[in-house]
Amino acid sequence: MALIFSIHNNIGWIAFDDPDSKVNILSFEVLKRFNGILDEVATAKRLDALVLISKKKDVFIAGADIKEIENITNSDEGKEKSHLGQKIFNKLEDLDVPTIAMIDGVTLGGGCELALACRYRVATFNEKIKIGLPEVNLGILPGFGGTYRLPRLVGLKQGLKIILSGGSVSSSEAFKIGLVDRLIPQVDWEMALDKFINEIKSLRKRPASFHRKSKGIAGFLDQFWMGQQMLFGASEKAVLKSTKGFYPAPLKALHLIKENFYLRRKAGLEKEASAFGELVTTDVCKNLIKVFYLSEKFKKYLPPGCESLKPQMIRKCGVVGAGVMGGGIAQLFAYRNIDVRLKDIQPDALAKGLKSAYDVFRQASKKRKITPAEMIMKMGKITPTLDFSGFHNVDCVVEAVVEKMDVKKKVFADISAQVNPERLLCTNTSSLSVTEMAKSVKDPRRLVGFHFFNPVHRMPLIEIIQGKETSPQTLTDAFGLARSLGKTAILVKDAPGFLVNRILLAYMNEAARILELGASVEFVDRAMTDFGMPMGPFRLSDEVGLDVGLKVLHILHEGLGEHFQPASILEKTYQKGLLGKKSGKGFYLYGDSKANPVNPEIVSLRSSSEKHSISALECQERMVGLMINEAARCLEEKIVDDASVVDAGMIWGTGFPPFRGGLLRYADQWGISQVVTVLEGLAKQLNAPRFLPCEYLLTLHKEQKRFYER
Ligand code: NAD
Repeated sequence: MALIFSIHNNIGWIAFDDPDSKVNILSFEVLKRFNGILDEVATAKRLDALVLISKKKDVFIAGADIKEIENITNSDEGKEKSHLGQKIFNKLEDLDVPTIAMIDGVTLGGGCELALACRYRVATFNEKIKIGLPEVNLGILPGFGGTYRLPRLVGLKQGLKIILSGGSVSSSEAFKIGLVDRLIPQVDWEMALDKFINEIKSLRKRPASFHRKSKGIAGFLDQFWMGQQMLFGASEKAVLKSTKGFYPAPLKALHLIKENFYLRRKAGLEKEASAFGELVTTDVCKNLIKVFYLSEKFKKYLPPGCESLKPQMIRKCGVVGAGVMGGGIAQLFAYRNIDVRLKDIQPDALAKGLKSAYDVFRQASKKRKITPAEMIMKMGKITPTLDFSGFHNVDCVVEAVVEKMDVKKKVFADISAQVNPERLLCTNTSSLSVTEMAKSVKDPRRLVGFHFFNPVHRMPLIEIIQGKETSPQTLTDAFGLARSLGKTAILVKDAPGFLVNRILLAYMNEAARILELGASVEFVDRAMTDFGMPMGPFRLSDEVGLDVGLKVLHILHEGLGEHFQPASILEKTYQKGLLGKKSGKGFYLYGDSKANPVNPEIVSLRSSSEKHSISALECQERMVGLMINEAARCLEEKIVDDASVVDAGMIWGTGFPPFRGGLLRYADQWGISQVVTVLEGLAKQLNAPRFLPCEYLLTLHKEQKRFYER
């Protein structure tokens, strides 16, 4: 039974407790049963209060049933389902008896809308509490009255902030903005709740003192028509900037609130149901739901053979190499309260590494993600060293020195002499063989590739590379470590460039070839941002550093063959020292101004002055087509297990647009036969064998299969 209704001492209790799940989900089945209980309450003798409570630890209600949302196939059905939820929540709102949502955990989506329909919300100080409406992250908007009730309860500014960003607030933040009426301790919460009920049981309405009104400018924006219009205008600009027109839900939610904020409940909810119905059938919604499943899958994923093993606890870590990556890695460990010994051979490098870690902490403190005191405490967790002192008792070591096999092998031999051989050894190499590196350590079973992406604090992915000797315990430890750092980890076999860089460099190299044909840097970058990439290939190359990219490209060329032959313009750009942001010049110029114009030198580096015209669509087909072909090759070579690993890697490692569902889900939607036709056409037209579809793609095509069954 997912719902239990009981009465004690004239207080009604509705307890949510889904027996088949760790969390409570508001499926339509649960909603119907809830509706029946509300009918019982309405006809029962007058209660002092009705309390909605969860029996799950740290969860009130995690949201609506996403499978049910995914299965809605037409707008009318979506609208009808929204109406159904709205009707039940209206019934709750209209009860005479004071209703209280007793929150002691995650209260999201439909769960938050349920709490909003209660007359009162009481929450504990539980740090796990998150209250919010994340619907726009799934391409929809709150459909059970959330867009109507939240802005009325917490004010337009706060309401818009939560709904349009899909964000959530902690219990103390919720109390501050008026989303929660009372904060109570977790211990003895019953007593505190009892006290609250005694205060409100005889009141027919939520007292005026509970309605928090903001003052000053915030009050003007919230309470006056002029201020509200200014808020709507500013929010629209912000939404258009952040979604770039690719994600329709936030804009639709904004337009809806702009209307329903001035309507009565019936009319406002009618508009909400229609908007929900329209969004729930879009491709963007279905794709974002798939990405949600993907993130759930990789939150729990462990490689086969590791399921019964326990990850080793990491309290202290050694980081060797204090460059761009080492500094970032040290910061992340310290942020997660792990002590770090940061080692380099150059004092200057150590100073730089510490400074880059400090800069990230300072940003976090400025954005109020951490307090200044926390910043000092966490920064103090990183101690620099030029030797291996303090390495004897580390739980793991991450190597992030220059990308050269001989240097890395020497470094690992030194590490191996200093560190207990049972400890976890990680290399952050972007492309070199983990198996080869492992030959230099005492116990090669303990070495694993642990590939962070740049910038470390922002990029959510870690590729975990299994060398030939890497043991299941080592993999378990590596996955445990990635999780404790808050990252998404995927398992990749040891092969040149692993997964993400291999696919990404096929794309960047193709961009350079298109440049050789006479297209401009801006045109190619624009074609890809119009496709949805967070930045174009040349802007990305400037961020990463051309030297870094080209080095990996050479390794791919050497290990995987001619189709990775670097475009000659990349070699010339490198020889000219145009490395990107770090050298002040790359494909763009980086001066004092924020404009960063295209570097005029680049045009002169083209091999021919002939100019071929190329459309944005052809640019996209060439670059995305090659990525799909390379990803299919990775599946063919069993570099990764299945298409979901590719999509996770590309979304969280490169920012491949989530609204497209992932690279290979996009390929399925493009149509495998269409992908094959386009690639074969390009191979013929450009006389370029790199476009020839690989066996894996051809087999899918022949057997009329897709990367995903569904
Ligand atoms: P970097 O050149 O910025 O830093 C390398 C650091 O290693 C330097 O400070 C150097 O002094 C130090 N070093 C060299 N030899 C050493 C030794 N024997 N002992 C201790 N320190 C030594 O390089 P980076 O960009 O930080 O890259 C480091 C590693 O991370 C490489 O393997 C690279 O492929 C990988 N990586 C880089 C990126 C990126 O975007 N830069 C992304 C992912 C992975």
